[in-house]
Amino acid sequence: MDRRSEIASRLDEIKSQLKPGVALIVVTKTFPASDVQILYDLGHREFGENRDVEGSAKSKELPADAVWHFQGGIQSNKLKSIVEWSDFIHSLDDVSHAKKISELARARNKKQRCFIQVNLDQELSAGSERSGIKPESLEEFVEVVGDEAGLEIVGVMGVGPLNQDPAPAFAKLQNASLRLQNLIPEARFISGGMSGDFKVAMEFGATHVRLGSSILGTR
Ligand SMILES: *Cc1c(COP(=O)(O)O)cnc(C)c1O
Repeated sequence: MDRRSEIASRLDEIKSQLKPGVALIVVTKTFPASDVQILYDLGHREFGENRDVEGSAKSKELPADAVWHFQGGIQSNKLKSIVEWSDFIHSLDDVSHAKKISELARARNKKQRCFIQVNLDQELSAGSERSGIKPESLEEFVEVVGDEAGLEIVGVMGVGPLNQDPAPAFAKLQNASLRLQNLIPEARFISGGMSGDFKVAMEFGATHVRLGSSILGTR
């Protein structure tokens, strides 16, 4: 089977498993721009990338109506570029990044749409390396960043656990979403679920799923 037919059949297969209204972000990290072009030609528009250099390059190769989601760890010195090419940032978890994103977005006359990343780990050790704010810090975080004029907080994002039942994690994310909506009623998006756990994430209200390997193959 050629690459186009292979991607087309996997894309159809996944789409048939999505709940109505759930947005599919195809995570194209590590795959060539030619694969993104195939997806685009098949009518797909939403793409996810984890690295600035890669996302920036691919976004320049694709037509302007492609929608780009940055979902990787944020390095402050990459923010200027990320704000240039991304339509959504899924991985906001730091106040200083929020202020910088807002400033950069305002300079471009844009509002940068951001998801607040919430850490869904069962046990948060003090020096936890995993990304995301602690769920219980959500209100405090929103209090500090909620008024930034260049930011539009659209919802919460989380990454499910490896090798564990994902249900408690996505329940936590759904709870964080409800609490966020108490503060910002429009911020109702939930970005949760990857190839291995998106069905569970949808049970807990995910509005956006981020799938790579189930559509493009193993990396
Ligand atoms: C890589 C990645 C995905 C996609 O993972 P797959 O298992 O390939 O579907 C989704 N979200 C984030 C944050 C990622 O880093």
